[in-house]
Amino acid sequence: MPVEVTAFQTALLGWYDAHARTLPWRSPPGTPSADPYRIWLSEVMLQQTTVAAVIPYFEAFTTRWPTVAALAAAEDGDVMQAWAGLGYYARARNLLACARAVTALGGFPTTEANLRTLPGIGAYTAAAVASIAFGEAAVVVDGNIERVMSRLFAVSTPIPAARPELRAHAAALTPTHQPGDHAQALMDLGATVCTPRSPRCDACPVARWCDARASGDPARFPVRAPKRIRPVRFGTAFRLEARGHVLLVRRPPRGLLGGMLALPTSAWTPAPVDWRTEAPVPADWTLRPTVVRHVFSHFELRLSVVAASLAARTHLPGEWWPADRLDEAGLPTLFAKASRA
Ligand code: SF4
Repeated sequence: MPVEVTAFQTALLGWYDAHARTLPWRSPPGTPSADPYRIWLSEVMLQQTTVAAVIPYFEAFTTRWPTVAALAAAEDGDVMQAWAGLGYYARARNLLACARAVTALGGFPTTEANLRTLPGIGAYTAAAVASIAFGEAAVVVDGNIERVMSRLFAVSTPIPAARPELRAHAAALTPTHQPGDHAQALMDLGATVCTPRSPRCDACPVARWCDARASGDPARFPVRAPKRIRPVRFGTAFRLEARGHVLLVRRPPRGLLGGMLALPTSAWTPAPVDWRTEAPVPADWTLRPTVVRHVFSHFELRLSVVAASLAARTHLPGEWWPADRLDEAGLPTLFAKASRA
């Protein structure tokens, strides 16, 4: 059945009033505005990460840095350390750059267009903050909303080619009244009812307009293009210990895991190379039995781990960190796993 826009919006908001998820960055349904700092911070954290994983980080960040000005004044290393484990570390660097730009401006811009000019704020985040914090009728399309649109309209074009079409559908349904609640309602519908594998159509407030449901196989949508095969790269991490301390290095500010503390590594290459030529210091290195696998957006890394002990803390580039406090160093997950291997 063609979607009756006003009836759709009313049904969705009515459902949201009763079923909105309680999240620490959220204002209850019907509240006119939310704190843009909390909305922006949560949206940056939620990119590529689940709500459950984000909540403790969000609580820790907002306890330590309760305002955007407080975050802007933080030390880079402290923020990177607090971010450790959330992944995609370029986001943490952009987070700081954005906090400082916002503080210099005297506050968050209030429109989608002006939010887009800030460092690290892409189309999605600008629309989400404009809509949820400032009540602009911006078109918000995250992964959940994309799925709901693809099902409502049974879009047969595969993602990503279907994205403009999905966005056009989302735009046609976006209201000028309570646009933030509408966006969050669609997010919640996708997260709790219109789930990827087993949509609960019987509990869905907009089922009567859903073409995918009418087709009898709603989980067939969204249609996806065949997966590309990720190339594999190989590398070696060097765990060097001396007198109860482990050698850590700070990775270059640009590039993968930039600015993070890490174990020294070899180069990451398309084929395995002899790691002995890249060890930071001659030592009695032992190859550990574990290979740490980590998936980056463009490749999969297989990291071998070699370990050695020295009698003294030799002067080497990097810093010696107490081995029994390594979990406080803010190592990215990849290196935390490698150091335990
Ligand atoms: Fe998703 Fe089913 Fe609702 Fe359609 S009816 S939007 S497939 S939960």
